[in-house]
Amino acid sequence: MPMLPGKYYQKEEMNKIRIAVKVGSNVLTRADGRLDVARMAALVDQIAELRKNGYEVLLISSGAVASGRGELPGLSSDDVEVRQLFAAVGQAKLIEHYYDLFKEYGITVGQILTTRENFVEPELMENQKRCMTAMLANDIIPVINENDVVSIKELMFTDNDELSGLVARMMGAKKLIILSNVDGVFTGNPENPASELIREIPAGKDFSSFVTSQKSSLGRGGMATKMGTASQVAADGISVIIANGKRTDVLIDVVLHPESAICTKFLTPEESKS
Ligand code: GLU
Repeated sequence: MPMLPGKYYQKEEMNKIRIAVKVGSNVLTRADGRLDVARMAALVDQIAELRKNGYEVLLISSGAVASGRGELPGLSSDDVEVRQLFAAVGQAKLIEHYYDLFKEYGITVGQILTTRENFVEPELMENQKRCMTAMLANDIIPVINENDVVSIKELMFTDNDELSGLVARMMGAKKLIILSNVDGVFTGNPENPASELIREIPAGKDFSSFVTSQKSSLGRGGMATKMGTASQVAADGISVIIANGKRTDVLIDVVLHPESAICTKFLTPEESKS
């Protein structure tokens, strides 16, 4: 890769550990559909703490459409235009909150709205990689989402889990943490008390037998696609963790105290050997 103009990169510290954190719509919205700002604040606190511990964070956040729906309660339809409207209004609201919450810690955020073609065309991919790299080098947290306002339905990411996997790969992250409203992957339906949380899934494991088709009503993803993304990303050497974004201190636990954290970890081929 050609090296880029030095001045934007000079602050880069080689010893930082780069991680990607994906937050789902179901983590960020309340039952009434409005943004759960207290939850956002809790996650921002934890990301600030991780940065103090030497982590460099890319944040992939859903919630634009869900938050727009909360802002425009009079509208309810699945029409493309209405979805675009929700996304346009909701994304503005979402980034405004992140901006203010991170500002409390003196941290600057920048917004990146992307589309699938930016991961397909090498030139476009290089261009957005350069932008995210420059942001990280300047201590700015990229807050990334699909550009739902202009994305064409047929060409959209399957969901933001897929987007987070693409970002983690492109940026060479060491870990990808996917936050949802469940603790991880269970042996059966998570609501059934007999189901157990699976702590680790080795590379190459066939998990089709315990995938539930459970899906939240807010985001596009579900556990099946989440697991598909997680196992593919882990196969490429990035460990992936699925955890419950509504749990207190979940990010601190999965990153800083992984032995005791409640989550499912998809092991890389290297980790699966030991
Ligand atoms: N980009 C969508 C949003 O922010 C979410 C997509 C998904 O649910 O994964 O509302």
